[in-house]
This record gives sequence, structure tokens and C-alpha cells, in this order.
Amino acid sequence: MQSRRLELMCLLFTIIFCIIISIYQYYFVLNLPSQSILFTSAKLKSDKFRILPNEHSSIWFQKNCFQIKQRSDNLAIANIPKYLNNARSSTNQICKDFVQKFDAVFRLEEIHGSLKISPVYLQKINRYFNKDAKLVEQIKNQRIIKIYNRHTHEEMLYNYMRSRRPQTKSEQSAETYTLQLMEESKTNCDFCGKNYLNSTAEDAFGRLEHSLSYTAANTFKYDRWHTLIVSRNHDTLHLTEDEIGDMFKLAQEWFQKVYSIESMYTCPEMIWDAMPKSGASQVHTHLQVSLGYDIYYGNIERIRQGARLYAQMNNGKNYFNDYVYVHQALGLTIPIGNVRIIIHLTPIKDLEVMILGERLEKDFYKALNLIFRVFVDDLNEFSFSLGMHLPPMNESNANGHEMPVNCRLLFRNPVTNLRADMNGLDLYTSSVIGKDRYVLYRQLKEGITKRKK
Ligand SMILES: [Zn+2]
Repeated sequence: MQSRRLELMCLLFTIIFCIIISIYQYYFVLNLPSQSILFTSAKLKSDKFRILPNEHSSIWFQKNCFQIKQRSDNLAIANIPKYLNNARSSTNQICKDFVQKFDAVFRLEEIHGSLKISPVYLQKINRYFNKDAKLVEQIKNQRIIKIYNRHTHEEMLYNYMRSRRPQTKSEQSAETYTLQLMEESKTNCDFCGKNYLNSTAEDAFGRLEHSLSYTAANTFKYDRWHTLIVSRNHDTLHLTEDEIGDMFKLAQEWFQKVYSIESMYTCPEMIWDAMPKSGASQVHTHLQVSLGYDIYYGNIERIRQGARLYAQMNNGKNYFNDYVYVHQALGLTIPIGNVRIIIHLTPIKDLEVMILGERLEKDFYKALNLIFRVFVDDLNEFSFSLGMHLPPMNESNANGHEMPVNCRLLFRNPVTNLRADMNGLDLYTSSVIGKDRYVLYRQLKEGITKRKK
């Protein structure tokens, strides 16, 4: 009798144990990503992202913190350690605040690497550099500037000598190749004229149409809510500001439509690849837009979580506000009305720039249009990849957002060369950059200034 009772007790205990384990799994394991994010955001009280007028110009920082006596066009990434050291030793509180913010976001390292070169090889190097003694000396003792973003884990290894590596040249010019491809691809284009009506699918709720663009559900989806925003202009490298703006306005309408149907889809993301070098499968202008469930895609979520960690570690300061401030002080931002073009310190590759703004609006389209014109018309770059995200749909606009509208744009090259623009280093270790960010800044600034006149 007693053993029967013991058996029943054991059975009861096992059942209770299983129920507890099941409840634990359901709440704490299966829902872990979403729960952890709610926990993080609930705990945190962070400033909102704001585009504010600059209290001190970049020229002011150069003069008072970085101790630069010459004109601003002498700024160079190779000298950033010097600027930081000068600001660090300054007694001015504004300079000290700048250094504190820089150090909170970035880790800066100056690395020296020397080469032992045989006399025979030295002759070859001399020939390669046309006997430029300065370059030959630089190749013997190379200087690398390493800038690491402590929160997003992006990194730049900058060495000017990387831009002097031997390159294979293509016989056909990039411009001729691009013009030819653009014309040829208009024949039998699925997206031109009315062809899309019989060559593309629609979302479950139908198609949205504007005078300058329309939607077409992606036949090969990468998410539940994923569609194409197709411009009625085939030529993705020569759109007008209105055509660019119309695509983004249509994208916002599509986000609202999906959100009204399934309100758990809250995270708006967009990509745009132009021309084959970027991986685009169609030449005709098209954005790909998607709405993520609860969280953004991994690369964007990494930045959002990094920004939250920054706020936790810095009394609720908004990461993006300080990010813009540091770049503005260093003279790496170009204001276009309410948005900022940033030639940021940790690009994925040499020709990447960023646009940050509080909302997707006219100044954003203007900034994007100006960047396209400078790269395509002045710098002869004919292929790009763009990645962009907007603040979550379930946040009110009234008090601003934790996240800005953030657009990153990378021009891909060389378009006529078989060689890829990224290699194992860039994909798996760190971004290796040969073009000085200040050189790109000056090219963009000059191109934008002449077009704004
Ligand atoms: Zn077309």
C-alpha cells in the first residue's frame, strides 16, 4: 500500500515538474529575442534623435581643439591621432567634451608596419612609383589608422598605400559600358511601359500606383511582406529628384498599408541595387522594401542594440546624436536642410556615405539626388548599393524617435572589371580603405556646392 502511494507521489511530482519546464520554455526560451528587447527598451530612458544647429562650426574645432593653423582642406585621416591628441591636451571644456564623445563611440589606433626590401625589388618599386621618393619612403614604413566603433563593431583600417596598389585596366571605359548596357536593357524590359502588368506579381492586397512609380510584389520573396517599388524611369543613374521622392513616398504608403493589415510588422527597411556590379538582377530602377516582424534585420538590429547599449553606458545619451556631433566636429558632414550627409569614419568600402535625418522628407530626396549627381556625373561611378531603414511604425512621431532615418550608400567599382570590389578581408575581418575620407568629403562638398548655386 505504501509503495503504491510512493509511486503515485512520484508520478504527481514528475507531472508537476514537466508542467513547470513547459511554462519556462514557452515564456523564457521560445520568446527570448522579443522578450529581451522589450526588457532592454523598457529599462532604458534614452534621448531622441534630433538634427540640431551646430553650436560650433568645424572650423572652430579645427582652430581651437585640433590646433590646425592652415586652411581646412589640409585635413587628413592620417592626422586624426594628432587632432585627437591636441584636443585631449586642450583646457577648453568643449574640446574635452568632443574627445569624451569620440572615445565613447570609437577606439582609435595608430599602427606602423615596416618592410625589408631587397635592392632588386627596390628598383621595381622605384619604377612603379616613377621614382617618387616620398612614396617609396612611405611603402617602406607604412602607417595604418584603425578606427573601431565600440557599439556597432564596424571598423576601418585606413592605409593610403592600399590605394596605390597595381590595378588591371579595362579596355572599355566605364561610361561607354554603362551607356550601352542601359540602352540594351530597355529592349524587352519587364518593368518598362505597361509590361509590368503581365510580367510582375502583386501583393495580396493589390498594386499601389503613382504617376512616377508603382509596386510589384517580389516573385522570389525574402520575407512575408516584401515588395518592389519600381520607378517608371528605366535609367536608375539619371533620375530626377521628383522621381526619387515619388518612389520613397510610395514606399511609405506601402509600409502604412501593410501595417494597417498586420500591425505586428513594424520595422521598415529598404534596399536598392543599381547595375550588375552591385548584384542587381534587373537594370530598370527598383527599390526592394520590406516590413520586419518586431525586430529589424540582423545588420540593422546590431546598430539599434549598439545604440541602446551606448545610451545605457552614457546616461541615456542618444548614440546617433553623438555620432553626428563627432563627425560634424571633425568636418565630415554636409548639411542639406534638415538632413546630414556624413562621410563616416567606418565605411564598409571606400565610396560609402551616409544620410541621417529625423524623417523621410524632401531634404532627404534632395541629398540623395545631389550624391547621385556628384558620383555619376563628376566621379564617373556607375553602380551602387543602398540600404536604408526608418523608425518603427508603432512609434509616435510627436516626440521624435530613438532611431533616425538612416541611409547608407556605397558606390561599387570598377564596373568593367571582373575583379570584385570586396574580398575576404572586407567580408570576414575588417573594412580596408585606401581613399582618405577627407578627399571624398571635399569631392562631394565641391560637387554639391556648385549644384546648389
Ligand atoms: Zn525598363
